[in-house]
Amino acid sequence: MNTQEIIDLDKKFVMQTYGRQPLALSHGKGAEVWDVEGNSYLDCFAGIAVNNVGHAHPKVALSICHQAQRLIHCSNVYYTQEQVELAQLLTKISPHDRVFFANSGAEANEGAIKLARKYTGKGEIIATENSFHGRTLATVTATGQDKYKEPFKPLPAGFKHVPYGDIQAISQTITEDTAAVILEPIQGEGGIIIPPQGYLRDVKNLCQHHDILLILDEVQTGFGRTGEMFASQLFEVEPDITTVAKAMGGGYPIGAILANERIASAFTPGDHGSTFGGNPLGCAAAKAAIEVILDDNLAYQSRVLGDYFKKKLESLKSKYGFIKEVRGRGLMIGLEMTISCDEIVSEALKEGLLINCTAGNVLRLAPPLVISQGELDKAVEILDRVLGKIS
Ligand SMILES: *Cc1c(COP(=O)(O)O)cnc(C)c1O
Repeated sequence: MNTQEIIDLDKKFVMQTYGRQPLALSHGKGAEVWDVEGNSYLDCFAGIAVNNVGHAHPKVALSICHQAQRLIHCSNVYYTQEQVELAQLLTKISPHDRVFFANSGAEANEGAIKLARKYTGKGEIIATENSFHGRTLATVTATGQDKYKEPFKPLPAGFKHVPYGDIQAISQTITEDTAAVILEPIQGEGGIIIPPQGYLRDVKNLCQHHDILLILDEVQTGFGRTGEMFASQLFEVEPDITTVAKAMGGGYPIGAILANERIASAFTPGDHGSTFGGNPLGCAAAKAAIEVILDDNLAYQSRVLGDYFKKKLESLKSKYGFIKEVRGRGLMIGLEMTISCDEIVSEALKEGLLINCTAGNVLRLAPPLVISQGELDKAVEILDRVLGKIS
């Protein structure tokens, strides 16, 4: 099928919930992808910060193949070696010692909210404005952007929102009934918003003082994206619960709730569950992907390449007045514009560069962490050409 045939069938058979780019992808390798017509693109989007180990990583592909030939699924009614090995690995790389496996970021957050409520016996969750936590009813309610939830009322009760970065606002919102604060360590969909210095640690101290839980949503920031394995390590804060997904499975859908034994033990048999969560295929994919991140030092790579990339992007800022700010950590970078960036994204696509626009006017650059310096140079070159046409 060619691109147009695929687009026509999508219009006919798929629910039209996505604002898609007119591109049908066929395959990829590292930071490069090809469409069904054979054109190649440099990927600075990584499937929304998912393909951290790049496309078709041989170790991940082989692990999935081997596992698929043995046991794809068996449910959580039985044990598997793949699941306990992945759980052990996650406790080794994170500040937590217990794991619950889910299939997506929203599901991990949904479960974290349940865990916080069960552990504290309280109902209220404090979230931040401009945040993004997922599309299920509870997580879309936690999400601090009205456009995602307005049409779906009535929404679950017990969520309050405060401005991101404002410790005072959290302090004033905590009541006797507060169970937890949920935050992204860097807001992703909200436009790559980095909190003020010391904010996350202040929130943690405040939570500790009031005996409520801090849930860090690391669905987008996790697995090396920000220059550390987790952003909690970057900001030197120990959350009570961390949620992960996106890059965890190297592209295979898998997520998790990470917590410490004291909190995790609030969940007893029957409290929470998932048919697919932590199935052997997902666990084999995730174990391979995380091992690649560790073995190839991809968190460090992300920091070094991120600094290099940001410097080159800064030089574009001095050239184009409509770039307001270049910001980010590691290879999670945003270019805030004074203009809408939809046209920049479509023009870049035509020039062979995949980027994304979030929050209306922030160009999001989140390439695979295996991207080379030369490829980053090429991305900046293309962007320069595209921005030159816009201005
Ligand atoms: C993407 C994202 C989610 C939702 O993850 P899904 O896998 O799409 O459900 C939740 N939180 C953050 C911070 C995200 O970036």
